Amino acid sequence: MRPSLEKAVATLKLDRKVLKVLETPQNILEFDLPVKLDSSKTRSFKGYRVQHNNARGPFKGGIRFHPQVTLEEVKELASLMTLKCALLGLPFGGGKGGVIVDPSGLSAAELERLSRGYIRKLADNIGPRVDVPAPDVGTNAWIMGWMVDEYSKIIGRFEPAVITAKPLELGGLDGREVATGWGGFAVLEKVAGKLGLKPKETSIAVQGFGNVGSYFSRFAFRAGFKIVAVSDSKGGIFGKDGLDIEAVFAHKAGGKKIPEFEGRGIEKISNADLLVQKVDILVPAALENQITKKNAGKVKARVVLELANDPVDEEGQKILTKSNVLVIPDILANAGGVVGSYLEWSQNLSGYLWEREDALRRIRVMVERAFDQVWWTRGEGEFDTRTAAYVVAVGRVVEAMKARGWI
Ligand code: NAD
Repeated sequence: MRPSLEKAVATLKLDRKVLKVLETPQNILEFDLPVKLDSSKTRSFKGYRVQHNNARGPFKGGIRFHPQVTLEEVKELASLMTLKCALLGLPFGGGKGGVIVDPSGLSAAELERLSRGYIRKLADNIGPRVDVPAPDVGTNAWIMGWMVDEYSKIIGRFEPAVITAKPLELGGLDGREVATGWGGFAVLEKVAGKLGLKPKETSIAVQGFGNVGSYFSRFAFRAGFKIVAVSDSKGGIFGKDGLDIEAVFAHKAGGKKIPEFEGRGIEKISNADLLVQKVDILVPAALENQITKKNAGKVKARVVLELANDPVDEEGQKILTKSNVLVIPDILANAGGVVGSYLEWSQNLSGYLWEREDALRRIRVMVERAFDQVWWTRGEGEFDTRTAAYVVAVGRVVEAMKARGWI
């Protein structure tokens, strides 16, 4: 996000040229992906991979399959990955990929052909020491499995370290599936501790009940937090005394939509209503640009915990800052996922297998350390929390670029 990046560059007293370097991706790959449909017709999809910065290590970042993917969005998400990996102290740079496609409109066989085609286009530009993709919205462990297989066929040997968040049988990390929600929960506990919020008295609304939102909700619910609202793309539900998240999770796992969940005292609400509920903590965990100048002034939460990437836009952030809403930025709040990916990558390269409990403990330690660094940098409110996170992250990327003689 540009204003925080500018503030971070100014705070660190860096040359303006550095801002330009940080804003410009190193490589942009853009291609057409022809896919044979089950009908025997061929349809072409647009694909992207943006490699933003690799001063600290191989590019790292997910692949999104979504009809609204744009190159601008992929560029923005790739630069967030550079900062996120630096903030967490991981030996990675940042990248991101995407395909303009609605995966729900394809059969499994068509999706497999699309996923393999994406890797054939990228094979010369990725690798365990070059660029290590992972899933994002619209992709999952199954798709990563096809992608690893395609890459391995091309190079002539099995190479699990090229992609993370794979199925366990292909070298995936036990715990990776829950890692982003788990890291978000670790941050929630830290924030609650700082603000003196007791779980039972703390109400939470979660927008998006996919991988990230659902596991986060489960961890928070089990710890006693009161989750009063959740939603998916079809709409949301609200229960003032708190929802039974295990029941909602089972309902969703059964293939049903959130608004179809029924129970005593449960009302249906829209996604727009969910964002302006009177809760202590609002957790956007769906897509970007959900809190903007249109609705930021109506947000009643004390804290916005950004589990999605970029859910608050620049104008939204300004309004929330003015209203003293504490925004915990995406590069910290959802970083548990990339820490899990790092453990998986190191497991594949070294052959040392992480036990699930050890992996989750390690993720928590690394996320909590990053939280403490951001909180300390924020001082007495000298910066908003996003800017504090950017100051830490930009400082590290710039030190690496200097050490390599790039600037
Ligand atoms: P997902 O596809 O599993 O889930 C997305 C959820 O959002 C679904 O419940 C979907 O129904 C809902 N949704 C879609 N559009 C919506 C809308 N307009 N309003 C409300 N809900 C809507 O995706 P995910 O992996 O959970 O990712 C969610 C966010 O978290 C994304 O911004 C992603 O970039 C970010 N993220 C994911 C990971 C990860 O490890 N999966 C890591 C870091 C960040």
